[in-house]
Amino acid sequence: MGGVNAVVYNDGIVNYDFGPGHPFRGDRFRRFMSAFRGAGLASDPRFEVIHAEPAGEEDLLLAHSEELIRRIERGESRDPDTPLRPGIYEAAKIAVGASMRAGELVFRGSHRVAFGLGGGLHHASRDREAGFCVFNDVAICALSLLERLGAKRILILDMDAHAGDGTAEIFYRDPRVLLVDLHQDPRTLYPFKGFPWEVGEGEGEGFTVNVPLPPGSSIMAYEYALREIFEPLAEEFSPDIIIRNGGSDPHFADGLANLGLTAMDFKALCRIIKSVADRVCHGRVVDLIASGYNPEVLPSCWLAIVSGSSGADFPIDEPLPPPPWLRRDSGLEGVKRVVAELKRILSDYWGAFD
Ligand SMILES: [Zn+2]
Repeated sequence: MGGVNAVVYNDGIVNYDFGPGHPFRGDRFRRFMSAFRGAGLASDPRFEVIHAEPAGEEDLLLAHSEELIRRIERGESRDPDTPLRPGIYEAAKIAVGASMRAGELVFRGSHRVAFGLGGGLHHASRDREAGFCVFNDVAICALSLLERLGAKRILILDMDAHAGDGTAEIFYRDPRVLLVDLHQDPRTLYPFKGFPWEVGEGEGEGFTVNVPLPPGSSIMAYEYALREIFEPLAEEFSPDIIIRNGGSDPHFADGLANLGLTAMDFKALCRIIKSVADRVCHGRVVDLIASGYNPEVLPSCWLAIVSGSSGADFPIDEPLPPPPWLRRDSGLEGVKRVVAELKRILSDYWGAFD
């Protein structure tokens, strides 16, 4: 296995941009790459920046209907949150291409961990764009590994502040993919789905795992959820690879969500994921990053994710002082109750929770 980590990037992703006044602007990618270079990582032998090609039609068809693809190509939007501006079809294909390439590099073993910049567009479902997500690159990355490269089992760990309802829908009946989704309590946040009792259907029953976190949840609540739910499931499921997705929207200063992570916390959490991956799947981690709605903290949080998931240690800045309400154990008691309920539900499917 190679010792280098890949950052898969195509500058055309800056056109993944919903326009002035929208919280998702495409300049985030250049801001991050500038921070990446500023930290000396572009010339650091632990990282290689690799160019992403846009996905082709046959790739999009792995997860989406032809009707959706044609409608996106024509620029006919059906979701007011996801306005289709000129250039977004091409940029969305770049996001998918970056995620697929990241998956391939790690699965084939040429790189240890690969980061797909622009990935994690987890609200898009088979027939519909939604919540700033045009095509679901997470699902396409997983399906490409399963159907073309011979992967048998994939664990998707969705750590975005919002529930990955599109990813859940695509794999709801599919036992090849175990989706573990940590997100802010959907009673308090879009997409208002992702409850513990949503566990999958048919052959996929038990393979969708939702861990809703109370608003304000901070590092200890996240660590508890990872240790009590993600780790035992990863050991029992024994995936070929872990796909992690999610950007900086769980940060305490994010404009759209109400969680309580600091930039440093992203590093600590991603280190846990990396160490679990080292035990269960030869360290194979694909990490897909795009979200975050506070431009001031986004580059630091993304760098923290890159440091944690790769295991390459470098310093992380905390751009803003934590608010007075934030404690390391914020949300912990609530998460303990959620985890207890979830274990009862999951005990029907997983020996780890018997
Ligand atoms: Zn989000």
